[in-house]
Amino acid sequence: MPATILIVEDEQAIREMICVTLRHAGFECQEAADANQAQIRILAAIPDMVLLDWMLPGTSGVDYARRLRQDKLTRHIPIIMLTARTQEEDKLKGLETGADDYVTKPFSTRELLARIKALLRRSAPQTADTAVEIGGLHLDPVTHRVRANGAKLALGPMEFRLLHFFMTHPERVHTRERILDSVWGGNVYVEERTVDVHIRRLRKTLEASGHDSLIQTVRGTGYRMSAQD
Ligand code: CA
Repeated sequence: MPATILIVEDEQAIREMICVTLRHAGFECQEAADANQAQIRILAAIPDMVLLDWMLPGTSGVDYARRLRQDKLTRHIPIIMLTARTQEEDKLKGLETGADDYVTKPFSTRELLARIKALLRRSAPQTADTAVEIGGLHLDPVTHRVRANGAKLALGPMEFRLLHFFMTHPERVHTRERILDSVWGGNVYVEERTVDVHIRRLRKTLEASGHDSLIQTVRGTGYRMSAQD
């Protein structure tokens, strides 16, 4: 599945240049010219990463990064700040607001891609072979085993993938479209209600140990895995 990257940049030429580069490299690219547009896009579907320009009209990139970090829904999105500023102090300020990395303009597209890929590797644990555990629910992607409080659970392949996706992206609301993209992949035509069917099956399997409550329905939006109410 291609990672979706949202580029927030008011200079159209730079925005388009970056998007072309990203698409060439196999990413999905979404564009926003300011923080308001970015927020609308993010609420429609959480991207895998945000490239955020420091100097934006209205809400600055720094303030917007801070806002993304404060919101439970967007807290986990990796952010790379783009800036013309080279001062060390500014760099620190950018990282303090919650940006994960920092690229100074002018940058080569090769450098930007390298930074993006490195950050995605760090922040997309579902592609790694690391076991995950939430509230006594344990999933091992290598052995394909799931245990609830130590007891083995039998999951179908789609339920396993779905659970893996949720456990590696907790505390975020995922739209059905985003879940389809990530779990089923973008190539096949599957109806959105297919997601509901598999969520129901997954919850049923998790019922015995009470872990079904980890998968919350967010009315009008989608689903979220959370150990909190
Ligand atoms: Ca700008």
